[in-house]
Amino acid sequence: MSELEILQKWLDESQKGVFFGGAGVSTESGIPDFRSVDGLYNQSYQYPPETIISHSFFTQDPAEFYRFYKEKMLYLKAQPNAAHKKLAQLEAAGKLAAIITQNIDGLHQAAGSKNVLELHGSVHRNYCLKCRQSYNASYVKAAEGIPLCKHCGGMLKPDVVLYEEPLDEETMAQAIKAIREADLMIVGGTSLAVYPAAGLIHYYQGSRLVLINKTPTPYDSHADLILAGKIGEIFSQITA
Ligand code: NAD
Repeated sequence: MSELEILQKWLDESQKGVFFGGAGVSTESGIPDFRSVDGLYNQSYQYPPETIISHSFFTQDPAEFYRFYKEKMLYLKAQPNAAHKKLAQLEAAGKLAAIITQNIDGLHQAAGSKNVLELHGSVHRNYCLKCRQSYNASYVKAAEGIPLCKHCGGMLKPDVVLYEEPLDEETMAQAIKAIREADLMIVGGTSLAVYPAAGLIHYYQGSRLVLINKTPTPYDSHADLILAGKIGEIFSQITA
């Protein structure tokens, strides 16, 4: 059997699989990841993304934070690709119980996935730091310079987990529960370099750990099945 046929068989047999993904899931939708050759780490900006999208940088230099954030992280025209769509179909078919994502782009929900656990928040939720009024991503994108609250003038903050900030405990607990109960775990489009998210893989207790990635990851030796390649192309060959 080919790797693809094994993945198809495991999906056919699965009843509570989980998918755990990262930025590589959305590159085929035109959103750059952080670590690929054409990802954000290889582009010229004055500071690396990890510095700019940190809590301390946001506090010290919100204008520069927002210049980077709006240009490099808000891709509001991006559409779900074949991977997002197939994952939504697999959930609807009763094969996947949860999608756990490090992405903040909302594309899993746009593709129709219901149980999406967003470890790092979402660009689609923003709030005023002073009066807590909510704003959508278009408001932030359209603002000149730092987006401000139209009611009280306070500065807005995206509901995104910045570096140095803790992950939401409830979301993390739900992710751990879904992984512990999973009969199949598919990990895709993530360098598995960002913690604590990457450590989630240790909670999987089954014997069907699948890694789908363009490049090797530090967890390749843990995997029961590895598919090297583009995740959208791979999922487009899977039947839900
Ligand atoms: P990463 O950039 O560290 O790694 C992405 C991985 O995906 C790489 O190993 C790369 O080889 C692989 N990859 C890229 N395109 C692929 C494809 N089409 N098919 C298969 N593999 C592919 O991403 P990460 O591990 O998610 O960590 C980066 C952090 O940055 C995360 O915390 C995430 O929140 C954030 N981020 C999010 C987005 C988004 O929401 N779309 C985009 C950039 C960064």
